[in-house]
Amino acid sequence: MRIILLGAPGAGKGTVAEILMEQYGISQISTGDMLRSAVKSGSELGNAAREYMNRGELVPDSLIMDIMEKRLQADDCGKGFILDGFPRTIGQAESLAAMLKKLGMKIDAIVNLEVPEDVIVRRLGSRRTCSNADCQAIYNIHTKPSKREGICDKCGSPTIQREDETEEAIKKRLATYAEKTAPLIDYYRNDPAFISAPSLKPEPAVEAVAALTGR
Ligand code: ADP
Ligand code: ZN
Repeated sequence: MRIILLGAPGAGKGTVAEILMEQYGISQISTGDMLRSAVKSGSELGNAAREYMNRGELVPDSLIMDIMEKRLQADDCGKGFILDGFPRTIGQAESLAAMLKKLGMKIDAIVNLEVPEDVIVRRLGSRRTCSNADCQAIYNIHTKPSKREGICDKCGSPTIQREDETEEAIKKRLATYAEKTAPLIDYYRNDPAFISAPSLKPEPAVEAVAALTGR
């Protein structure tokens, strides 16, 4: 089972991905997570990506395509994968199509998560992340607060706002989404594998995948 998840930042791609991962025994591939760990490790890729990410801009397509070509062929992708946060531009979608063809792979479902913009702004602005790089637990000051304000339940480290989750960076990320990524919805709309689901909760998207694929 191979799935592409589309949706604005904060649309809940991570939550839907987690359920699909378990349901179909497939791996989640999050380019955001891969880039963040590259930044932390100080690798060449991380150093090249850091400034773009902190500004809420996209990392150049060439950097992303290099890491994805290897990732899609990793051992844990044998049963399939969920692409979370990739493709992000028409250019990436076109490169992905060529890459899949070369590898003899087909996408089973392209899932667009629909969430109103005010919900997104609220979700992202209220998110807090554990500052301990080995923990990275995620909280939400409204819906999932830590037991002691500002302190991680799991490891006791301070919880912080991600650098790209300040109000200014969130606005920039949403503008980037509207300009570069939202056009993917029209790019994929006529594909028989395309589905769109409201995403205040994860269930409609998960059920739509099962209905479309019969699995
Ligand atoms: P979100 O979906 O919440 O915006 P992600 O964790 O997917 O965040 O990505 C965080 C940042 O990493 C993005 O703002 C962007 O700078 C970079 N990034 C992630 N995936 C891609 C991609 N496919 N192409 C370009 N940049 C990316
Ligand atoms: Zn922690």
